[in-house]
Amino acid sequence: MLNIILFGPPGAGKGTQSENLVHEYELVHLSTGDIFRSNIKGGTELGNLAKSYMDKGELVPDNVTIGMLRAEVNKSQNANGFIFDGFPRTVAQAEALDEFLESKDEEITVMLALEVEEEELKTRLMQRAKTSGRPDDANPEVIQKRINVYQKETAPVAEHYRKPGKFKGVNGVGSIDEIAERLFTAIEESKS
Ligand code: ADP
Repeated sequence: MLNIILFGPPGAGKGTQSENLVHEYELVHLSTGDIFRSNIKGGTELGNLAKSYMDKGELVPDNVTIGMLRAEVNKSQNANGFIFDGFPRTVAQAEALDEFLESKDEEITVMLALEVEEEELKTRLMQRAKTSGRPDDANPEVIQKRINVYQKETAPVAEHYRKPGKFKGVNGVGSIDEIAERLFTAIEESKS
């Protein structure tokens, strides 16, 4: 299996590039943000809970997120592999993911980190707010909070995968196709 973590700050392009990777490698795309948003739309209990954190730019608690992720992986029994997009976002989530995959004799192949500087991220998120309908994109204070949470809680997850040599940084600035090519190259390198 090819199990990829697509990593990077809010606005780095994880969702956009996930689509390219899904087509190229026929993987199952699991975006925790998308799953939360579809629960919010459906008015589920999970959705209501997630919304109370997301609207403030905070993380949904680990136990909720990890439980949901495991259930989603288990729904796709015959997958070629997965793209984890927006997960893991804390070291505790990374440890839980590693343990869960190990219980299936699987592991993370590579973490691909899209690198984009903060000013560019803010510009992209404000732009996205015009069409995404996402309340967390529309408010500059919430955007700043998400970037701060990323730096404090999520950035350390890179170290977790750097230690076993699974981390690859990819320049996240350029055209969508250019960035896709960089990701494909990084994946081919990590397969061999
Ligand atoms: P972005 O990366 O652009 O901020 P996402 O769709 O990945 O967007 O996430 C939106 C929000 O959903 C986050 O700010 C957070 O509140 C919640 N969320 C998504 N994934 C996780 C996760 N793995 N752990 C906790 N909260 C999460």
